[in-house]
Amino acid sequence: MAEARYRGEVVKLDRGYPLVRLEDGELLRCEHATALVKGERRRAVIGDVVEVAVPPAHDKGVIEAIAPRTREFVRKDPTERAVPQVLAANFERVIVAQPVGEVNLRRLERELVLAFETGAEVTVVLTKADLADDAATRATVEAVQALAAPAADVLVVSEDDPASVEAVRALLAPGTTTVLIGRSGVGKSSLVNMLVGAEVLSVGAVREGDGKGRHTTVSREMIPVPGGGYVVDMPGVRGLGLWDADAGIEAAFADVEQLAEQCRFRDCRHLDEPGCAVRAAVDSGELSEARFASYQGLRQETAQVKERREEARRLRGEKASTSGKRRPPKSRKGKRG
Ligand code: GDP
Ligand code: ZN
Repeated sequence: MAEARYRGEVVKLDRGYPLVRLEDGELLRCEHATALVKGERRRAVIGDVVEVAVPPAHDKGVIEAIAPRTREFVRKDPTERAVPQVLAANFERVIVAQPVGEVNLRRLERELVLAFETGAEVTVVLTKADLADDAATRATVEAVQALAAPAADVLVVSEDDPASVEAVRALLAPGTTTVLIGRSGVGKSSLVNMLVGAEVLSVGAVREGDGKGRHTTVSREMIPVPGGGYVVDMPGVRGLGLWDADAGIEAAFADVEQLAEQCRFRDCRHLDEPGCAVRAAVDSGELSEARFASYQGLRQETAQVKERREEARRLRGEKASTSGKRRPPKSRKGKRG
């Protein structure tokens, strides 16, 4: 009997064995072909379109090829110095979630950089509105909008307000995939359950371990939302180290970048150069010290990663990278005023 070949999509990842949904809807547990993971260490991630072979008398499929990705969510591998880690592929939107009563603007900036870097549409969803009072919520929404808008919309949801969940559902166009990111406990699983209208994810139950603790069965899964595409919850994503992030920083810090265009020197580092428009804006209070520090920190982090990557390449005896390539700028709804 000849081996059968199929095309499918990775819809779940746990313990390294991708679950692939074949074109006829059947789910098949798969492993990677050795040729695929050797050398380049290419591994399928959630959302990947893959070619699968099923050898006769084999209980698993074998992923032989991964189709080129339209989009990737990438962070720096937390366990290695200069290696990227792709967390999801082929999605149209990223939702960044934080509880409205405990928003961390600095973390939000980092999350937005990673989200914008993918080139996808980005939405900030502030959760657990029932736990915060209205005045505080309004103030927080304003502060978050100042960071995110108009490049990303800001929505507020609450478990006790079905209409707020409907506003999120309206973003999930049929046939599209949305990736949900945010710290553990911000309410991602609850949001998914509300979107689906059933307990598809266990709330508050997943422990995001360090790989050693109990309950480390942290799986990533593509979940169909009735009438509205798929959502991918990403538990277990604690660190969000930057990888390529120039385009993401540009989008997430459009206000700072705009100021930087007024600096006297094209390559101004905004430290002690004369004629620095960014420092001037900090001094006048137009740009907050904290946001400026965050911008500088993230720029430094991505520069450092780039440097280490080049270093690693040199050690392997390869030529300087051409992969400093720029993605075309993401379509923006408008410019920050
Ligand atoms: P995840 O780790 O991001 O998936 O967060 P969970 O969905 O597991 O939620 C963490 C905790 O926040 C749980 O105890 C939820 O019951 C609670 N929670 C989530 N959404 C809401 C909300 O809208 N209102 C309130 N009061 N609690 C919420
Ligand atoms: Zn400057």
